[in-house]
Amino acid sequence: MIGFEPTEEQAALQALAHTFAEREIRPVAAHHDQSGEFPETVLRKAHALGLMNLHIPPRWGGLGLGVVEGCLIAEEIAWGCTGVGAAMEASGLALEPVIQGASEALLERYVAPMVERFSLAAYCITEPGAGSDVQGLRTRAEHRGDRWILNGEKAWITNAGVADWYFVLAMTDPALKARGGMTAFLVERSWPGVTPGRKEHNMGQRASDTRAITFEDVEVPDENVVGQVGQGWMLAMKAFDHTRPPVASAAVGLARAAMEHAVAYAGERMAFGVPIERHQAVAFLIADMAKDIDAARLLVWRAAWLADQGRRNTREASVAKAFAADVAMRVATDAVQVYGGYGYNTEYPVEKLMRDAKIFSIYEGTSQIQRVIVAREILGRKR
Ligand SMILES: Cc1cc2nc3c(=O)[nH]c(=O)nc-3n(C[C@H](O)[C@H](O)[C@H](O)COP(=O)(O)OP(=O)(O)OC[C@H]3O[C@@H](n4cnc5c(N)ncnc54)[C@H](O)[C@@H]3O)c2cc1C
Repeated sequence: MIGFEPTEEQAALQALAHTFAEREIRPVAAHHDQSGEFPETVLRKAHALGLMNLHIPPRWGGLGLGVVEGCLIAEEIAWGCTGVGAAMEASGLALEPVIQGASEALLERYVAPMVERFSLAAYCITEPGAGSDVQGLRTRAEHRGDRWILNGEKAWITNAGVADWYFVLAMTDPALKARGGMTAFLVERSWPGVTPGRKEHNMGQRASDTRAITFEDVEVPDENVVGQVGQGWMLAMKAFDHTRPPVASAAVGLARAAMEHAVAYAGERMAFGVPIERHQAVAFLIADMAKDIDAARLLVWRAAWLADQGRRNTREASVAKAFAADVAMRVATDAVQVYGGYGYNTEYPVEKLMRDAKIFSIYEGTSQIQRVIVAREILGRKR
């Protein structure tokens, strides 16, 4: 009834992603962290190997992989560097509602070419005044003739400066808000009136490209509405059931990397005449890392498996995301502790992991919002 053994295909994908992370990502991770330079070369190689755009259905030339496969790959890529992984995941996040809801014409025009040609997408929901409170967004689209006129500003958009197209959520009927008043649009970055801002200087995951975007009288043709007018909220939110498990899996990958560094260091570093791993206080830090990583991974796999069965997994995806985010932060912080003073220094790998870990409890819904969702799923169903 319950199995944890990956299929041959899954094991092969996992091995491919791990080797890629080891050979292509790890050697350049510190460079991209320090310089903030976007890792386009790495991403192009990942694309060529089939490690991107995992869920594009076979009828559009894609692999049509499931959420479980996406999670296995995400953990390995994140083990390499979560900044690189964020650029890949963000494109997947933009693709998800488009694959789920867009017309065949939009899929053919924007999604199918991504299989052969390297390009990225971005998911644009957050605004300066509306993050957790998505219904408070102010970006407005008004219908004129055969097009929509888009005005507004998005904030904190991953891939904003490098994506070819954006999935944009806008208000089309402010009186209705989530109940039919929000519509999703597919907007090209090169269109007149679309202006990405400067790259943000973030605490961690600095390889990824985060920017604001302004939309000023952008003309969006009718055919670039994703799904139906008024369906945007549903499309944008449903995507998270499929994308939160891989984000949580990336948190597990980061934690695993931090633990591996801590284990290696604890075996080498001497204090009081013995390797520090022989001090029980240090050994228990590592034991706690192992148990938390195991638990987080199992929650991720459950949430992903449910999605692949076509079953509702909103609660399980939020549980996995909130739990794995905390695990990543705790394990990375404890890895710094195991390293002592060296852990606090940029010459050693764990301070980057600690900085990178923090964002997992903020993007794709904060850990507070995950708890709001879990509580609603439990208490709402009682009523
Ligand atoms: C590096 C980075 C990349 C990002 N990438 C993207 C992206 O690609 N696309 C995109 O659309 N967005 C993206 N975001 C935005 C991200 O999703 C938001 O920052 C996040 O949803 C929180 O919104 P906020 O920052 O406005 O915080 P706020 O919503 O203002 O929240 C502030 C605090 O209040 C808490 N809070 C708010 N409401 C509640 C509530 N009802 N109950 C309990 N606590 C609450 C929050 O948990 C948080 O602790 C990114 C952000 C960052 C930093």
